[in-house]
Amino acid sequence: MPKKPAPRTDDAAKEGVAGSAGDTKSPAQKALEKLGLKRDIDLALHLPLRYEDETRIVQLTEVREGQQAQIEAVVTHQEVTFRPRRQLVVTVDDGSDTCTLRFFSFYGSQQKALAVGNRIRVRGEVKGGFLGRTMLHPSFRAAGGSLPTALTPIYPTVAGLPQPYLRKAVLSGLARSDLSDTFAPGDLEVLRHGIGHQPLWTLRDALSFLHHPTPDVSLDTLMDHSHPAWQRLKAEELLAQQISQLQSRRERAALKAPQLQAVEGGTLHARLLAALPFGLTNAQARVGAEIAKDMARPIPMHRLLQGDVGAGKTVVAALAAAICMDAGWQCALMAPTEILAEQHFRKLLGWLEPLGITTAWLTGTQKTKERRAMLALIESGEAQLVVGTHAIIQDKVKFKNLALAIIDEQHRFGVAQRLALRNKLQHDTMEPHMLMMTATPIPRTLAMSYYADLDVSTLDELPPGRTPIVTKVVNDHRRDEVVERIRGQIAEGRQVYWVCPLIEESEALDLTNATQTHADLAEALQGATRADGQPVLIGLLHSRMHVDDKKAVMGAFTAGLMSVLVSTTVIEVGVDVPNASLMVIEHAERFGLSQLHQLRGRVGRGAAASACVLLYSTGDAPRLGEAARERLRAMAETNDGFEIARRDLEIRGPGEFLGARQSGEAMLRFADLATDTALLEWARAEAPMLLDRYPHLAHKHVARWLGGKAEYLKA
Ligand code: ADP
Ligand code: MG
Repeated sequence: MPKKPAPRTDDAAKEGVAGSAGDTKSPAQKALEKLGLKRDIDLALHLPLRYEDETRIVQLTEVREGQQAQIEAVVTHQEVTFRPRRQLVVTVDDGSDTCTLRFFSFYGSQQKALAVGNRIRVRGEVKGGFLGRTMLHPSFRAAGGSLPTALTPIYPTVAGLPQPYLRKAVLSGLARSDLSDTFAPGDLEVLRHGIGHQPLWTLRDALSFLHHPTPDVSLDTLMDHSHPAWQRLKAEELLAQQISQLQSRRERAALKAPQLQAVEGGTLHARLLAALPFGLTNAQARVGAEIAKDMARPIPMHRLLQGDVGAGKTVVAALAAAICMDAGWQCALMAPTEILAEQHFRKLLGWLEPLGITTAWLTGTQKTKERRAMLALIESGEAQLVVGTHAIIQDKVKFKNLALAIIDEQHRFGVAQRLALRNKLQHDTMEPHMLMMTATPIPRTLAMSYYADLDVSTLDELPPGRTPIVTKVVNDHRRDEVVERIRGQIAEGRQVYWVCPLIEESEALDLTNATQTHADLAEALQGATRADGQPVLIGLLHSRMHVDDKKAVMGAFTAGLMSVLVSTTVIEVGVDVPNASLMVIEHAERFGLSQLHQLRGRVGRGAAASACVLLYSTGDAPRLGEAARERLRAMAETNDGFEIARRDLEIRGPGEFLGARQSGEAMLRFADLATDTALLEWARAEAPMLLDRYPHLAHKHVARWLGGKAEYLKA
């Protein structure tokens, strides 16, 4: 029994639109909304992914393997076969050659339409092959009739929204939209110089063209978005993003924040500086001053501190906190993982407790009693500094007077979480200053686009005395040599990380993998000795462990009691054990580039020469895939986080950098930051000019492009 064919969705959709069953929306209307296509202009700006050429009939002999083609031919044979499964097989002949059409699901009416002797127009992808040309599930109709004069656009869609329905909706949205120009007078000329002297198209022309381009256009320029019509749309999109970020920056400037003036003489800030076991690098001093200057102003700081792993961001944060506490206000530091938060807590406690500062500690896993005590300290203001995980932003946490919120590894947090922290300041007319930190350097183009509403400080210098990490890419077959190397490090009293990959399909597998590696390594390292005569301990750390066990293991490793730490990627961010000098990453080919760089940053934190071994395995394949090879090569070639970030952007696009910030809607749909730098530069210069001189155009532009979505860009 063949399956009963599903109802034709496009017919169902039509009924839904025409029908009047109360105010219920048809599936197609719901699907449109799901795509964010609510207004006419949204439809007009919903652009094709690609095009099909139905304007020409070609001869089979002209068609290359894998090409989309439209032919007219006579049916010469038809049969239903059952091997390997039930299918309708039709042979057609267009005079130049024959082609086999296969359908795995079909109606009786279709069988009739494909009767031997009928002349039909067929469109689909032509495959070659031993038994001649074939098309799988081509679309077809009776031959003859007029040919369309434009290419047929294929739109991004979702289930329940067939192309013909969407196409009609888009075209009517386009027809109803106000497409008047929102660029300032004279801009078309400026932009023309910016993007290589092509005359810039108007929005109306660009959109009509992209929705039905003439067949003579080069499909390549449409696909790679280099066509002038695309240039116009990318310029539009980038400008909308720039204006909206400029608006939110200006809105922020209208808000109030506590003025945290650095207090002269004998202060916490000065005492902390004096108590540090090292002097600040020039970069630390410079960004420290940038931050201090921001906090001294009565408007909220919104600053991103970026610095490569190991650049020393924590001290900068502590000094900013000291200024805040000097001024009599509370400060909070939030980190994405408990391990990291705890490490910050210990470090800050070590620095600040001797100076008489009370620090509270908040985490989701702490005991109720301890937690209550902490909440009381925070509410009374006795705790001037609060360190913790997401637990900090829970409703129950009431600050007495929070003035500075520091977020470490900010890309790990979502927009909502950052907003929540911002809302913690109890004085409702004021907002706290925000300092966000990241070790994933943001490439310049991203800083100029997605992060354009932030001020950025960069630690571009590592503390002195670091020897660069030597990175080796090693085939897993040579694991034994790596183990020998570990033995050598242990003997010298150094410590080693061994990182196992996260196995995405299964947490359980993941665990087995790390557990197994741990057992194997313990066996292989039998008889290893430490110069100081202490026993050689090999620890295991993974995400499913109880938090107390995690802490115990991490504590032992930090204290130097443990020589080797086998771990899943839980150690990825921020962990700081300067005596660790070797990092082995197993199945390095499975990790992303920025993650590899983060992991590698766990070593090379002290004076000892450090190394990173990237173990890779090709599995059953003869060699690694291209992207994996690129990543490993980049790692071996450079230690520079900015260079790594640039290459990562090249290999993967911006998604990863945006982290939780990528709320889909705020993403650039058309512009490509890697290639559209000229347009981006133009939009950046243009946005303030438009907003100042033609505010009505600027507002109209943002409303058109972002509608209700601009909120996303603000956090
Ligand atoms: P990250 O920027 O990755 O968060 P950390 O703040 O953890 O880096 O600092 C890395 C290590 O460098 C820590 O052990 C820290 O104490 C040390 N450090 C920071 N600043 C300096 C400095 N100016 N001189 C020497 N060591 C420093
Ligand atoms: Mg850090």
